[in-house]
Amino acid sequence: MRDYTKFYLNGQWVSPENHDRLDVLNPATEQIAGQISMGRADDVDKAVSAAKAAFSTFSQTSKQDRIDLLKSIAAQYKKKSTDIAAAITEEMGAPKWLSESNQAASGYLHFKSAIQILENFDFEFEQETSLIRKEPIGVCGFITPWNWPINQIGCKLAPALATGCTVVWKPSEVAPFSAYLLMQVLHDAGVPKGVVNMINGDGPVVGSAISSHPGIQMVSFTGSTRAGIAVAQDAAPSIKRVTQELGGKSANIILEDLSEEAFGKAVAGGVKTMCVNSGQNCNAPSRMFIPKKRLGEAEAVVKNMMSKISVGEPNAENTFAGPVVSQLQWDRIQNLLNQGIDEGAEILVGGVGKPDHLDAGYYVKPTAFTQVKNDMNIAQQEIFGPVLCLIPYETEQQAIKMANDNDYGLSGYVSGADMDRVHQVANQLRAGMIHINGAQMDRTAPFGGYKHSGNGRERGPQGFEEFLETKALLGVAKG
Ligand code: NAD
Repeated sequence: MRDYTKFYLNGQWVSPENHDRLDVLNPATEQIAGQISMGRADDVDKAVSAAKAAFSTFSQTSKQDRIDLLKSIAAQYKKKSTDIAAAITEEMGAPKWLSESNQAASGYLHFKSAIQILENFDFEFEQETSLIRKEPIGVCGFITPWNWPINQIGCKLAPALATGCTVVWKPSEVAPFSAYLLMQVLHDAGVPKGVVNMINGDGPVVGSAISSHPGIQMVSFTGSTRAGIAVAQDAAPSIKRVTQELGGKSANIILEDLSEEAFGKAVAGGVKTMCVNSGQNCNAPSRMFIPKKRLGEAEAVVKNMMSKISVGEPNAENTFAGPVVSQLQWDRIQNLLNQGIDEGAEILVGGVGKPDHLDAGYYVKPTAFTQVKNDMNIAQQEIFGPVLCLIPYETEQQAIKMANDNDYGLSGYVSGADMDRVHQVANQLRAGMIHINGAQMDRTAPFGGYKHSGNGRERGPQGFEEFLETKALLGVAKG
């Protein structure tokens, strides 16, 4: 049992008095794994006061001071990485291999990447007769989700610290264990008091108090489009900057000109990417567009690949995918599977209910629907589980039109033999990141969405810009 009931305020762990407690469940066992305290608006006030006081000095630190601080954080993080991975597995069910190699590892990589960018980042440059200065925006409010709990805070925290901002953070109440360990890492690394503050709690109380707080100059939110809208609405009266990293329903277009081998590889890769993290990825390639005349070929590959996805206890050696995060999420997925059946899509593999060999735990069968029409609910809504829709197309233009015919626009995937065609298709997709021929994530490339998938970009130098104000000193440059 993890007793994680303290908040981290002004450089120390504080036990909140007379606060409600929340049990945190392990999704693999459905048993209580720990407890947190549920914060209130007055806790956010205290955190903002601490962050505001710290900003006056932290914003004036030199680039070298902040590089040294980030190096110290990265070193401390590395020591705790295995513990953080175990916490992620316990709180949200990611299998051990994924927690270690990717989920927890991402935190370290974000700090390392911020160091590299900071080393080469110009906070001042001349433009005609003016000197342009980039200055830290101020106190930042962070609200993060459960599906990549460390990755999502790492890609906010590292650039915020690199640019001299201070922070008030609310992690997801569903997966708060790794957040607690990360705060201890920051403490051990010598982050000055007040620079980062963490309050646990739910969205409507603590999240809303952060979004609406007049002492916070920007709020960076990652989560559902529903909550992202609420954040922007709460933030509007205080004119703060809002960045939103929201949901997705990404298209994976497989072009017709691929050889049999390359076609099989592209389809199998799409299935695997869809099932990583039990399909709980904002950028999951959940709509696979297949040339109509090659649908049978694709179906055979999908069936074969999906049946090889081993679902099971997250700490077991051969598990590829663990449970989904909660009963709520499991119910939501089952509901959408039933909707797909009612809408007339055909189940190719998987289906409703738990895999036969698993009783306790929120396990879902990796599922593929075929003969899906793009206007079906299952092709329009984010399912956030290991569920793939195969959508046949007649022409490339039709595939592009259907890919864009969705409220979301986070990622896209295009595979083809002729690179000119691949580029042409990629350029026409209304989405923030396009993976070409199975390319993996690039942590230095800007990440963010079009349309209902959000506003703003994280990672790389573009991610730094979100935390900076621009000041022009007129008449001081030669021109
Ligand atoms: P969620 O929106 O339910 O919760 C995310 C965070 O917002 C939590 O900390 C929650 O407490 C808080 N919150 C909820 N309501 C709020 C409100 N009214 N005001 C302020 N804060 C509020 O999302 P989730 O279920 O934790 O995460 C899954 C969603 O996140 C999916 O839609 C997924 O696509 C999205 N996501 C997007 C990205 C991205 O980078 N685009 C990355 C990961 C997850």
